[in-house]
Amino acid sequence: MLVVICLVCEILILPSKLHHDPVRSLCISGGTHGNELNGVYLVKNWLKSESRRCEIQRNSFQTHVVLTNLRATEQCVRFTDVDLNRQITPENLFSTEEKGSYPYEIQRARDLYSQFQDGAGEKAVDFWFDLHNTTANTGPFFIMNHTQGPFPLHLASHLRIKFPEIRIMLLTPGHFEKLHFGESEDKEWKQDQAISKFPTGSVSNIGKEGFTLEMGPLPNGILNASMFNLEKDIISGVLDTVDEFNNGKEFEGKEIEVFRFLGVVHYPTDENNEITAMISPDLDGNDWKPLHPGDPLFMAFNGETTVYKEHNVVWPVFINEAAYFRNNIAMAVTRKEKIVVPALKLKATQP
Ligand SMILES: [Zn+2]
Repeated sequence: MLVVICLVCEILILPSKLHHDPVRSLCISGGTHGNELNGVYLVKNWLKSESRRCEIQRNSFQTHVVLTNLRATEQCVRFTDVDLNRQITPENLFSTEEKGSYPYEIQRARDLYSQFQDGAGEKAVDFWFDLHNTTANTGPFFIMNHTQGPFPLHLASHLRIKFPEIRIMLLTPGHFEKLHFGESEDKEWKQDQAISKFPTGSVSNIGKEGFTLEMGPLPNGILNASMFNLEKDIISGVLDTVDEFNNGKEFEGKEIEVFRFLGVVHYPTDENNEITAMISPDLDGNDWKPLHPGDPLFMAFNGETTVYKEHNVVWPVFINEAAYFRNNIAMAVTRKEKIVVPALKLKATQP
């Protein structure tokens, strides 16, 4: 379902009365990035035995579990050839070229899509839930694509009752790294993607609807027990909420706070593309806090501070994320907004 963004008031407007089909199947995936270990080990544990899988089974829907990037997980690296979380695209999934000629993660994207499609070649999983960790000081947050209907937003918002520290990030269709803050490139391409079934190329696009759970700060390649347990509790809360909805729970219409992705900020570089500054110590670790014009942004190696020079307040996130360093990306920036989401009821099913 497409939603409309009112450019004047910057509020997401959705139709006022909505119904949603029951969720019959849900997939939890981990290891999309093979060195984000809490998600990897949650999934590995559920895959080990039927008894451990009990904790993610609910009566009203079927739960699948999958380790997505097998090779990267074995090697404890983000990816081996290309980032799997950018490969769920129509060009990759429906190409007729020989499979063997593709990079590993594109082959894996095709295998995953085949595994979770129905006989007619359409998406078979109703809701996809992909687990990630970030090295940034973000706490837990859900990332979802803004062209989806209100169901993922209601789920995420409902989880905030029990876990108020959870935040919601709305991702603009298109590849994360391609959207440079302050530029308007790729506009046409973005609109094309917005109406496709694979708006962001991410693994959660394998499901009809879905979102990503990010948890940070967690360094790559290690586990953290308290974060692992919190992650498990949040997952359990999502499953319970889906189950309650399937059993007739209604989501009331409400205003929800979201952080809308605006683009990424690159490190300053010299003529050899070598970075010349670090994140300012005044900003580092302050994910989700407002950055005002004139606030410190970078600190050069000689100690000089560069300030944020744009005119609008932004809310940075993924500050100093290790995986983005190789692309000279210092952080993403978002805009905090309130969006109005209408009530949502279960669609009546045939007896
Ligand atoms: Zn990740």
